[in-house]
Amino acid sequence: MQHRIFSKRVSRRQLIAGAVAGLGTVAAPGVMRIAAAKSWRTGIPFSLGVASGAPRSDGFVLWTRLAPEPLSSNPETPGGMSGADVTMRYEIATDPGMTKIVRHGSATAEQAFAYSVHLDVAGLQPGRSYWYRFLSGDAVSPTGRAITLPSLGSALRNVRFGFVSCSNYEHGYFSAYRHLTGEDPEFVLFLGDYIYETIEQYRPIVRRHSDGIEAATLPTYRNRYAQYRLDPDLQGLHAQVPAIVTWDDHEVQNDYANKWSQYFDDPAQFLIRRAAAYQAFYEHMPVRPIVSRPNGPLMRIYDRFTFGDLIEISVIDGRQYRSREACYAPPNKGGSHLETNAGCPERLEAGRTMMGFGQEAWLYAGLAHSKARWNLIAQDVLMAQLRIKRDGSDAFSTDDWNGYPANRQRLLQHIHDSKVSNPVVISGDIHSFFANDLKLDFDDQASPVVATELVGTSISSYGPPYDPIAQALPDNPHVHFFDSRRRGYVLVDLLPEQMQARMRVVSDAHDPKATIATFKTFAVEGGRPGIVEA
Ligand code: FE
Ligand code: CA
Repeated sequence: MQHRIFSKRVSRRQLIAGAVAGLGTVAAPGVMRIAAAKSWRTGIPFSLGVASGAPRSDGFVLWTRLAPEPLSSNPETPGGMSGADVTMRYEIATDPGMTKIVRHGSATAEQAFAYSVHLDVAGLQPGRSYWYRFLSGDAVSPTGRAITLPSLGSALRNVRFGFVSCSNYEHGYFSAYRHLTGEDPEFVLFLGDYIYETIEQYRPIVRRHSDGIEAATLPTYRNRYAQYRLDPDLQGLHAQVPAIVTWDDHEVQNDYANKWSQYFDDPAQFLIRRAAAYQAFYEHMPVRPIVSRPNGPLMRIYDRFTFGDLIEISVIDGRQYRSREACYAPPNKGGSHLETNAGCPERLEAGRTMMGFGQEAWLYAGLAHSKARWNLIAQDVLMAQLRIKRDGSDAFSTDDWNGYPANRQRLLQHIHDSKVSNPVVISGDIHSFFANDLKLDFDDQASPVVATELVGTSISSYGPPYDPIAQALPDNPHVHFFDSRRRGYVLVDLLPEQMQARMRVVSDAHDPKATIATFKTFAVEGGRPGIVEA
């Protein structure tokens, strides 16, 4: 299928050739004269690769982090680095071989942020690919690809992207990331659980989180991100596919909600941990340096991306601003648990929020003003109602949108009332594929379908038991498809008149050479919310 809407794309083979040529330490002619004449005698400073993200019509953010000793356990020398900020050179070209350089200048690796670079580039042409690299002393980074968004309102026929979530390093290899790179998407949406702070203690593992401890401090979160970025499949995806990112819980702690820990920690103490986790996320992601720079435990990641007249993506933060999980008290777990209406009336309270009221108002204003044909809401957790029988009664999870039904109702009512064009919610977290109709009233068969939801499975994290959810499907007729047994991602081909979503699965997440196949294909037809089997 033709999907190269961004001009002057090249073959994957050429891209890889460009990336490999840039790997490691190369004495590039002309570099020594301009950059500081630093010789990287120990280690490869660009060991964690490069990434681009946060695209706009005239630019994007370029990321790298200097880490000659990426898993250094000395908290005083993150990545084996010490001393002041490091100034390096960057180049942006219109070809993957970096021969037609259209921009160059200096970029700063900030000591305060583990020597990461967040270079905010502006003034480029809309709707095309660029290639970039960093140069420091005698070292040259791999070459990466970035995109600028097509200008607002410009006609766009076709765009391909992938969405991914839940890559537990201990649970499997990242073959799914490698295969997504091979699909040549324009961008990838990360919907959360990019890292896992945990250490697996019960289930089989294929490789170990290097430090063997739960991440809870700035040095331990940093090393977790560094270890994930050393994975060649993930590093390769970032080099070749621009990223749009949000987070879920495991970037901080399983099932946390705002300042409330699943272990009933003192909220003031937990906010210190959250600040460390958010800072490490910032240090490793291609997010905007002004808007998203963390301020203590606060960090804004919700954002909006508009691709011509075709698609507007609202990226939502479902963790930082939410109300405490309903019925948060022992003997319940502090995190996800199933609750009935009678057993936990708090879950149904109107004042509860998933998004926080500021983000909610921002989302509604954006949706109401959007002129895009398709309006995606990219966020972390399952939105559709999911009734699960517990001791003969209907029960609902407290951690996904089922724990915040009043906010879900306000959102779906807003989508309905403001006649949002082709609303589609994409979600992660549950390590399962779902294809759902989102109804104004899930309890009323006659209630209209107002939006569609697609949930991607995990890249590698183990899925929940299949049978209890499969057996609940007759009680959830708006759920058209569910499967928790396969690992992979969703590949979307979006045209003005149709969205096609292919659920792609790896043969075995425990096999580093796993193959890829299509498991199921669904579609959403323009002007008609709801899932169609393709
Ligand atoms: Fe997960
Ligand atoms: Ca999660």
